[in-house]
Amino acid sequence: MKRYSRKIGSLLKKHEDKLLISSAIFVFVIFSLIILPLVLITIVNNEDIPDVEHLSIDIPIKVYLHKTGGTVTLDLEEYVAGVVAGEMPSSFEFEALKAQAVAARTYALSKVVRGEKFGNSADHPEAPLCDGTHCQVYRSEQELLELKGRDWIKNSWPKIKDAVATTMGEVMFYEGELVEQPLYHSSSGGKTENSEDVFVSSIPYLRSVESKYEDEAPHQSESISISFNTFKEKVQNTYGASSISPNNIKILKRSEGGRVEQIQVGNKVLTGRNIRELFNLRSANFTFAFDGNDNIVFTTRGFGHGVGMSQWGANGMAQAGYNYKEILKHYYTGVTIKQIN
Ligand SMILES: [Zn+2]
Repeated sequence: MKRYSRKIGSLLKKHEDKLLISSAIFVFVIFSLIILPLVLITIVNNEDIPDVEHLSIDIPIKVYLHKTGGTVTLDLEEYVAGVVAGEMPSSFEFEALKAQAVAARTYALSKVVRGEKFGNSADHPEAPLCDGTHCQVYRSEQELLELKGRDWIKNSWPKIKDAVATTMGEVMFYEGELVEQPLYHSSSGGKTENSEDVFVSSIPYLRSVESKYEDEAPHQSESISISFNTFKEKVQNTYGASSISPNNIKILKRSEGGRVEQIQVGNKVLTGRNIRELFNLRSANFTFAFDGNDNIVFTTRGFGHGVGMSQWGANGMAQAGYNYKEILKHYYTGVTIKQIN
């Protein structure tokens, strides 16, 4: 009887094992046939840029405030007005302000949508946007009052709000997808840059184009003088370059827009951006010379990274009679401007 029951026990055990194996196979089949494809489809879909249909001006804009470390949630159009005021002088042409409004709105929405899909920037995980140059400068009406005064609020603020209102809900698309990187800068120095020559990736709408109307831009050509010893020490300490002498500094390569791509300094090849950041130059579009007093003198053209819309160029185009759509299409190659819901 004991033996018999042991046999039954071992049969039952075998049966359980079989059950276990078949359940495992069942789970595996379900996983590979149903769950895995679903996961893959979701991942692939997430690579896509937001569905145009779901974009709306009702999307709330959460902004991280550097001063307080808190966040504020704003209406999109209210946010855009605060960015135009923060990023462009109100004295600029109306069409230039409108172009800035569309660029700022496009940037905001693309950050919100991307934040939802992939998480916000590590610099401010609590919000897709911040109020500083890291994203785009935003100023509340209260801040504008404190910064610019009552007269400005009375005379200039309405002009900016009008520029925003006349482009309400308008954003840029490229081949049916929301433009993700509507970058802009102060002035280009005559020609803007291909995105890959300044940053990493090649973005089809960020191509080098002429920027002919920058005559009124400040910092068009600016020189700064640095003692050669300081120059040498900083480059040595930051980039580990050695044997630096006036004879072995040489610009090796320039980008299409004129920025220094490669510069030989002693035994190292650096980028113009390296030099720009190290010495706070206005732009990486520079030449250099020695003044005979142990100084190296950098002369820069333009102000900023040079990619996308030149704000002073936009103002110049507006003065020359171009409208905001023509301005945007000039600086962002191949885009269309559409109004969202
Ligand atoms: Zn930011």
